[in-house]
Amino acid sequence: MTRHYSALSLLREGLNGQRGWQPAWQDADPKPRYDAIVIGGGGHGLATAYYLAKNHGITNVALIERGWIGGGNTGRNTTIIRSNYFFPETAAFFEFALKLYEDLSRELNYNIMFSQRGMWMLGHDRHGMEMLRRSANAMRLNGIDAELHNEAGVRAEIPGLNDSPRFPILGGLNQPRGGSARHDAVAWGYARAASALGVDIIQNCEVQGFLIEDGHVRGVETSRGTIRSECVGMAVAGHSTVVAEKAGVRLPISSYALQAFVSEPVKPCLDTVLLSPATGTYLSQSDKGELVIGAGLDLYLSYAQRGNLPWMERAAAGVIELFPAFSRMRFLRQWAGICDVVHDSTPIIGATDLGGFYVNCGWGTGGFKAIPAGGWCLAHAMATGASHPLASAFSLDRFRTGALIDEASASGIAH
Ligand SMILES: Cc1cc2nc3c(=O)[nH]c(=O)nc-3n(C[C@H](O)[C@H](O)[C@H](O)COP(=O)(O)OP(=O)(O)OC[C@H]3O[C@@H](n4cnc5c(N)ncnc54)[C@H](O)[C@@H]3O)c2cc1C
Repeated sequence: MTRHYSALSLLREGLNGQRGWQPAWQDADPKPRYDAIVIGGGGHGLATAYYLAKNHGITNVALIERGWIGGGNTGRNTTIIRSNYFFPETAAFFEFALKLYEDLSRELNYNIMFSQRGMWMLGHDRHGMEMLRRSANAMRLNGIDAELHNEAGVRAEIPGLNDSPRFPILGGLNQPRGGSARHDAVAWGYARAASALGVDIIQNCEVQGFLIEDGHVRGVETSRGTIRSECVGMAVAGHSTVVAEKAGVRLPISSYALQAFVSEPVKPCLDTVLLSPATGTYLSQSDKGELVIGAGLDLYLSYAQRGNLPWMERAAAGVIELFPAFSRMRFLRQWAGICDVVHDSTPIIGATDLGGFYVNCGWGTGGFKAIPAGGWCLAHAMATGASHPLASAFSLDRFRTGALIDEASASGIAH
C-alpha cells in the first residue's frame, strides 16, 4: 500500500492502475477514553491534534467533528495568507504562522499549493495612503517584509486596474511573501499527518455537552456517546460561544456571516492578492482560473450560512470599479461562513476558568492564515497547561485586565 507521496509513488501507482493508495486518514470510531480531546475538525482543530502528537508526543487523541473534515470555515474561506498586522504581539504570531506555511507541504508531505504571489492593499485617498505608510512602518519594525509603492509602481505590477475618478489609485502596500493556499489541502494534509501519528479522526460526531466535576472537565457527551478525557481543546470557529456555553464558559464573541463568490474560470489575469479597503472588496485568481471575491461581514448577527444579493451586488460593484474588464464575467457560485468576532479583533487562545478546558477561537474573518500557529499554540497550552509565549497576550484574561489588542483600529484588518 502506498502511503508516502512522491514523484516515484505517483509513477508506480500510475503503472499499477492507482490501486495501491491508502485512504488519506483513518475514519475512527470513538473510544471511551483519551489523553486529550480536540473539538472541531477545521484547520485549527486538526493542526492542534497534529502538533499534540508531533511536538508533545501525545498521540492518544480524539479529534471530534460534527460534520466532515474541513466542512466549516476552513473549506469556505478565500485563502489569503499574510502577516501584515500592526501590533508586535499579532505581527509575531501571524509571521510565525506564515513561516510554518512556507514549509508545510514538505512537513505534511501534502501539496497545499501555497503560492506566495504577494498581497497588495490599495490606497485611494490621502488618508488611505497614511494608513498604508503607518502599516508599512509597523511591519518593517516588526521584521516583516513590506513594500510601499506609488501609483506607477502599483500599475506596473497589477495590469488592468481602472483609472477611476471615484477611487483613484494613489499607491499600494505589498507584502511579497503573502499569498494563498488550497484550503481543503491544508485540512486534508493535517488530517492525514495527524492520523499517521495515531490521532483518531472521528467525523459525524457532535459534542452536545460536557462532563464536569469539581470545576474540572472530565469529558464530553456526544451524539455517539460519552468520551472521557481530563484535557479538552475547542476550535469550532463560528460556534465558539454555543459550544463553550455548554461547558458554562462565556466568551466575548459575536457571530456574523461572511460571504464569498467565485467567477467562472478564465485565463491568468491577476497574479496577486488584492484588497481595496475603500471599495470594500478583495480578490485573487485561483489556480483553476476562477476569480475568488469577498467583501465585508454581514451587518447583523446570524448563524445562517448563506449569501444574499445585496452583498453580492456590492462586492461585484467594487470589483468592476477596480477592473472594468471583469464586468462581463459570470458568477459561478456564492456561499457564506460564520465568523466569530472578538471585540478587539484579536483571537483568544489558551485556558479558561474551567480546569482542563482550552479554547482557540475568535478568528473573525482571518483565521485561515493562522492555522499552523493556532494549532501549535493550542497544542502547547493543552500539553503543558501554560500559554505559549506567542499566544500569552491572547488569553481570556485580557478582558479582565484591559490589555486589549485592537487590531481592527490599528491595521484595519480584513481577511
Ligand atoms: C467567506 C470567508 C472568507 C474568509 N477568508 C479568509 C481569508 O482569506 N484568510 C483568512 O486567513 N481567513 C479567512 N476566513 C476565516 C477563516 O476561514 C477562519 O477563521 C478559519 O477557517 C477558522 O478555522 P477553524 O478550524 O477555527 O474553524 P472551522 O474550519 O470552521 O472548523 C470548526 C469545525 O468545528 C465543527 N463544530 C462546530 N460545532 C461542533 C460541535 N458541537 N461538535 C463537533 N464539531 C463541531 C464544525 O463543523 C467545523 O468543521 C474567511 C472566512 C469566511 C467565512
